[in-house]
Amino acid sequence: MKATIATLPGDGIGPEVLEVAINALQKVASKFGHEFSFNEALIGGIAIDQTGNPLPDETIRVCEQADAVLLAAVGGPKWSDPTAPVRPEQGLLKIRQHFGLFANLRPVKAYPALAQHTPLRPDLLENVDMLFVRELTGGIYFGPQQEQGDGDSAYDTELYTVPEVQRVADVAFRAAQGRRNKLTSVDKANVLASMRLWRRTVTKLHEDYADVELDHVLVDSCAMHLLTRPASFDVIVASNMFGDILSDEASVLAGSLGMLPSASIGAEKFGLYEPVHGSAPDIAGQGKANPIGMILSAAMLLRYSLGLEAEAAALEKAVDETLAEGARTADIAPRGGSYTSTTEFGENVINRL
Ligand code: NAD
Repeated sequence: MKATIATLPGDGIGPEVLEVAINALQKVASKFGHEFSFNEALIGGIAIDQTGNPLPDETIRVCEQADAVLLAAVGGPKWSDPTAPVRPEQGLLKIRQHFGLFANLRPVKAYPALAQHTPLRPDLLENVDMLFVRELTGGIYFGPQQEQGDGDSAYDTELYTVPEVQRVADVAFRAAQGRRNKLTSVDKANVLASMRLWRRTVTKLHEDYADVELDHVLVDSCAMHLLTRPASFDVIVASNMFGDILSDEASVLAGSLGMLPSASIGAEKFGLYEPVHGSAPDIAGQGKANPIGMILSAAMLLRYSLGLEAEAAALEKAVDETLAEGARTADIAPRGGSYTSTTEFGENVINRL
């Protein structure tokens, strides 16, 4: 197949990890007989420096002409003044909104070999393999908000419509069908009207997915169960804010922020794929960045936007095998021990492929 992929390296370790992912995709293309072309564009701090805009029109055009977007990370101390009128992170929000990417998929897997990097008992980490589906374009982050009076009161509004809940729950049910057929829907239906609508809508949609086992869990209880019985979760669907908080909590199960990929998808095949981590300015340019989150984001791109399941699985397997062989980037190496550089780790994965 022929596919065009827009690549947005951004700032800090962004270009370092993106290069590894592009090399891995090129290897996938040659191994499986595909033709991928890569078109690079600006986003984030570097885009502000060069154009004054964190998401230039030219970048939107490059993304519109692509089948999918691979984004690394944006931001850094140079652009971190909170009072600045333009900030790198605005580019991220704008691109998600522009393409109507309403569902954010974040798989979290625990690697037994990295158990010493998590604060949990190793036995709790066995068989941890879950997928968060977070609603991304609605809820309290986008509802009406205002500071009132002299700034002595303020409000934000959690507002959801039935179609908004339906479409993200639909993504979650379908994902569960491709996994272990279990869906946990997170809400706060005992207190919030918007969350009663959430529960009602998910329950109704369940009629179309009778083969999926559905349970409803209150967000506070879910926060606890993610640490006490993480292996019991398969797919978890949550509102924008609850999904934001819970998926960050669950990220500690993986051993390092550098391990985690994500996909933001909408109604069409087009999607935006990016690691969960930021631009890590503290380690930029030192060969210390873990490229796994970025490589696994590329695997998600193959799976969701290009429909190349075998290719995605081959890339994921190559990462698993590289870890099993003992290769470790600085963040997951034994304390004080030697580590593999970003590029070397990427070469190991490519050789495995
Ligand atoms: P961060 O994720 O960049 O870094 C947090 C810690 O994790 C750092 O110690 C870093 O060295 C480490 N880390 C992150 N990714 C790693 C990797 N791949 N390999 C090894 N170690 C890794 O978060 P931060 O320090 O809070 O933010 C730095 C900048 O990134 C800020 O400007 C922030 O706004 C931005 N940011 C961007 C995104 C994004 O682009 N999606 C997400 C979060 C933060």
